[in-house]
Amino acid sequence: MKISQKHDVNISGRYAFSPRVSNSRIKVICGPMFSGKTKHLIAAISHYQKEGKKVVVFKPQLDDRYGDDHIVSHDKDETPAINIVRPAEMLDLFHNADVVAIDEAQFFDATIVNVCSIIADQGKSIVIAGLDMDYKANPFGEMPLLMAMADEVKKLNSVCTFCSGKARFSHRISQDDQLVVLGEKDKYVPLCRSCYNELKEK
Ligand SMILES: [Zn+2]
Repeated sequence: MKISQKHDVNISGRYAFSPRVSNSRIKVICGPMFSGKTKHLIAAISHYQKEGKKVVVFKPQLDDRYGDDHIVSHDKDETPAINIVRPAEMLDLFHNADVVAIDEAQFFDATIVNVCSIIADQGKSIVIAGLDMDYKANPFGEMPLLMAMADEVKKLNSVCTFCSGKARFSHRISQDDQLVVLGEKDKYVPLCRSCYNELKEK
């Protein structure tokens, strides 16, 4: 249809919609390792709780670096969380919550995308934290799709280990070559693009 004809569009149906007081929102917090993703997630959870909202927090079972039933930032902020293996488990557990929070979302399988849609369609807000790129600088898991469907995406930087610039890459310094290797600063360093590329060439 030409723009000049758009006054012909029938908008009478809009009166069938009731006014929205608030809408559910999907927010993604992403970045490399040591960029404060979990810290920002815990701050968002705390913000919702201060508004009187009930938040349920999920994390993948495989991430057992810290306490089994908490998510913990590198600064040792923490909040209780439910360990799950498959995203569909969230569908049995989110109903009493106003907000669903998910940490380390890059580790979940492809069903997380549909599960998040179902939860948002029920009027719940979702806040998701995860690595946007793996150690080879490829998009990690379903994070690209989650970022595409989000209402808001916050990209965090870390500090480059070599030049102190803004780091977007999680470089693995151990010799493991599997995609998922859990570890801290013994296995990964955050790097900027220039230092990452320079190291790759060596
Ligand atoms: Zn650098």
